[in-house]
Amino acid sequence: MAIKLKLLIDKEKKRVVLAESDKYFVDTLFSFLTIPIGAIVRLSRKKSNIGCMDALQESVKNLDSQYLPTEAVKEMLLCPRSTWEVRTNDLALNVDTEVTRYYVCTRNCAVSHPLISTVKNVRCPCGRVMDREIVYNPNPVTNGINEGVFVKRTMKFMIGDDLRVGPISTMTCMSLLDKLGVRDRAALEEKSVDVGADEALHILRRLLVSNTPLTDVFLQKPEAVEDAFHALKLSAEDIAIDKNDAGKKMSLKLLISKSKNRVLYAEATEDFLDLLFSFLSFPLGAIVNLLRPGSSIGCLDNLYKSVEDLSGDDNCIISQECRAMLLDPMLALHSGCENQLLPVVEAGPKTFDISKHLPCVYCYSDRHYPSYPCSRSLLLHFINPKLSDAATESGGGFVKGPKIMFMVTDGLDVEPLSFISGISILDRFQVPISDVKERVVSVGQDQALSLLKAALCSRTVLSDVFCRKKVDQSQIKLERDQ
Ligand SMILES: [Zn+2]
Repeated sequence: MAIKLKLLIDKEKKRVVLAESDKYFVDTLFSFLTIPIGAIVRLSRKKSNIGCMDALQESVKNLDSQYLPTEAVKEMLLCPRSTWEVRTNDLALNVDTEVTRYYVCTRNCAVSHPLISTVKNVRCPCGRVMDREIVYNPNPVTNGINEGVFVKRTMKFMIGDDLRVGPISTMTCMSLLDKLGVRDRAALEEKSVDVGADEALHILRRLLVSNTPLTDVFLQKPEAVEDAFHALKLSAEDIAIDKNDAGKKMSLKLLISKSKNRVLYAEATEDFLDLLFSFLSFPLGAIVNLLRPGSSIGCLDNLYKSVEDLSGDDNCIISQECRAMLLDPMLALHSGCENQLLPVVEAGPKTFDISKHLPCVYCYSDRHYPSYPCSRSLLLHFINPKLSDAATESGGGFVKGPKIMFMVTDGLDVEPLSFISGISILDRFQVPISDVKERVVSVGQDQALSLLKAALCSRTVLSDVFCRKKVDQSQIKLERDQ
């Protein structure tokens, strides 16, 4: 379904001044805060251009399963889910159209092992893989889309080019025109556009790298938009200074080029990889929340702040639950990591009531086992795909340990440690062995936050965080292109 959006355009400066819409578009915009970063990379087919996230997800894809605790972990990281899927299913326009699938064991072990999985090929205690998909039709939380998902029905909104969202007010519009230096009414032009899934995804990608996503999507030529290696910078304050000594630390060995003051690669164990890979499952709203007071990532802070403002005096957000879902979204069940340095919360355990959602899972999908009573009410528990023994509790890591060494490049390419790969990185950067020094650093919560931010807006993550001096990003683009 496409949503209509009315744009007010400054013809001379070729930019969108503001947009007007009903709640459907705003619901879609706000839903972006619930989407995990890895889902955006997947939806953009690894051309998201968000910092090093494309490379990180590619590394997960290429990592041999022998380094993972289970085969299912890969699927989990490549296709991270939002916790609030049931509600976002009600959106008039949902960018993340991939639905959660539910799998049980082909042997119908449910009575002896009442287990279910959202990831295919998780192993059942009977030894088989759970690969029978069952049909699940969740009851919509709201009574149809007319009620609105996040913002109240009947509201009309104005949206700035920088994605500040507010109720329509002519006063605000006037002052906005004044602020943008639009003096002449004749310079303004109205335009109606249709926003479909492609445009919505484009806005989602641009909002992470640009301050003018609406102009980028609706007025610029595609090639001008795609070029962007954007001017996002880590400021000096973003570079981690070890403020608190307490808390868990992990250590990391860096290989640094002395002359370039730049990290060539890091030697890391599974705990550091767990940290990096966990970024993929963080919803955007959780990232802003972690990087308070502001993430400075594109227009993300504006979108977040709009939800805060609209849930305040204006009371436009449907409920406190909706507010929390946008401003403090949890990680999906079992998407957390035992060794997590950052204070992110994973959704609590839930059960899947077969009788509630399905007429009968057995008769419906497996007529060979009619002996199971159809009327049985059965609660299935979700398996944690990271744990190998079909356990349902939280915990576990994404990468198998202990003591397996990996190398992580400055651009977050990850592979098992290899001397030959190390040498080829030295060649690529034209660094002689005599110019290389080793440094061991410790990574605590502050560094983890800096790494998260750098991973989202830089191509030289380790150098930015550990070498203090900002590397010239245009140089990196040249190196990547070569
Ligand atoms: Zn089984």
